[in-house]
Amino acid sequence: MSLPDRRTFYNGKAVSGGPSGPTFQSIDPSTSKVVCTIYTSSESEVDQAIRSANLAFPSWASTPPVERSRILLKAASILRSRNDELAKIETIDTGKPFSETSTVDVITGADVLEYFAHLVASGGLNGESFHLRDSAWVYTSKEPLGTCAGIGAWNYPIQIALWKSAPCLAAGNTMVYKPSEVTPLHAQLLAEVYQEAGLPDGVFNVVYGDGSVGSLLTRHPGIAKVSFTGQVSTGRKVAGAAAGEMKYVTMELGGKSPVIVLPDVDLEQAVDGAMMANFFSTGQVCTNGTRVFVPEQLKAEFERLLLLKMQYVRAGDLLDANTNFGPLVSKAHYDKVVRYIKHGVEVDKARLLYGGLGQPDHLPQSLRTGYWVRPTVFTDCTDEMKIVKEEIFGPVMSILTYSSVDEAVRRANNTELGLAAGVFGRDIDLCHRVIKQLQAGITWVNTWGESPAEMAVGGWKQSGVGVENGRRGLEAWLRNKSTLVDMGGSVPTVFSKL
Ligand code: NDP
Repeated sequence: MSLPDRRTFYNGKAVSGGPSGPTFQSIDPSTSKVVCTIYTSSESEVDQAIRSANLAFPSWASTPPVERSRILLKAASILRSRNDELAKIETIDTGKPFSETSTVDVITGADVLEYFAHLVASGGLNGESFHLRDSAWVYTSKEPLGTCAGIGAWNYPIQIALWKSAPCLAAGNTMVYKPSEVTPLHAQLLAEVYQEAGLPDGVFNVVYGDGSVGSLLTRHPGIAKVSFTGQVSTGRKVAGAAAGEMKYVTMELGGKSPVIVLPDVDLEQAVDGAMMANFFSTGQVCTNGTRVFVPEQLKAEFERLLLLKMQYVRAGDLLDANTNFGPLVSKAHYDKVVRYIKHGVEVDKARLLYGGLGQPDHLPQSLRTGYWVRPTVFTDCTDEMKIVKEEIFGPVMSILTYSSVDEAVRRANNTELGLAAGVFGRDIDLCHRVIKQLQAGITWVNTWGESPAEMAVGGWKQSGVGVENGRRGLEAWLRNKSTLVDMGGSVPTVFSKL
């Protein structure tokens, strides 16, 4: 498959004209074949995209919320009607199986668009008013920030674009969005969907390129807020640059999340949860539960069940409905994950329970050029191992044993990251006690990974700042104005005549 070139999109259209400036390519990770050429946005194009968003802002901000809502709801409905077509593009761009992209990526993005559209149409932007004293009251209003930058990671491209643009636009802001250069295909399609739904020109704009284009956005005086999803190390740079200019920030960063299997657990449930926490999206999920803490006495049975179920991880043709495991997103990321697996075997000397180096079994010959790794399970791991400490962002599970729940909690928290955590057990009181002690912003009991529009999500510690989704997710795109009204008839002053 080959797709038309992509160019900077602003003021309602993609830049036209013949070839100009540097380009990069989108590659199908299942085969390593090129599918699209993308033109890197020049500094002047980034500037023009921001200017077009700045110009569109006053009118969009003063459009009544219910009218903004109508446009966003129409966009959600277009997204749903084109679900399979858009999901196929996501599959080609990310390497995630169509069985995933057609049931998760576009749908959960459209859900969030609907959620925020409904929220702002039903009073979500209302302020409060209160009686201060008989002659005075205070009212507050929630005001949009201006033009915001959305900078996305490559693992959930269209979902990330929607999780950022939906509350941003619903709140009355405009956006300049930069997709990851690794998975840029969705961005123009989303811009066109918004346009078809009636979004005014300039309200949603797209720029393309690597970190240097991202950094033009974060430093630009025309940008009021930066909403970033990516690695902790990049997040530090982006937040630093934005803070220097007093911009608002939301940082959705990486994790190394623990799964705690309690002694009274239903082991089938725990194994299913641990597999979802490690192999969904080929492990390329920020909330992955890669440190699986299992009671010593349950280890053998946990491993036996896990080995039985690992045969249900099926690599293959990504459009086949039975395929539930794809390649890694790029050559660079493949090399990184392979280095970690090698390190686990050779340096950490963890015991390889399943997988390891090489390609998945039964991979068709036509896909052997892609960036495939085997789903991998290490056991007998210890907290000091590199594979246990660092975010691999691939399908690599580490099993650790513990002897008391307190010990498991202490070790689970012994990381600078705090994105997600989960617990599996039958004693629901104990589950809640454990959750209460875990240092993470997103937690699950007896399930893993679901992140509905209604649920505010964001990391603790080095995993981020602020939240996305839920009611609190809207506040992240607003600033407060408080107004004190005095009806006393005279202005209180210290400067009266003695
Ligand atoms: P990166 O940090 O490498 O990149 C994220 C985005 O930032 C990309 O668009 C990238 O551009 C851009 N970028 C790079 N440098 C700069 C800079 N100096 N200024 C501004 N922008 C810059 O992350 P990945 O794309 O590798 O994504 C994987 C990471 O994202 C993982 O750590 C994962 O945990 C995290 N993540 C967190 C989520 C959350 O909600 N907490 C959700 C999903 C992922 P380009 O790639 O084009 O160079």
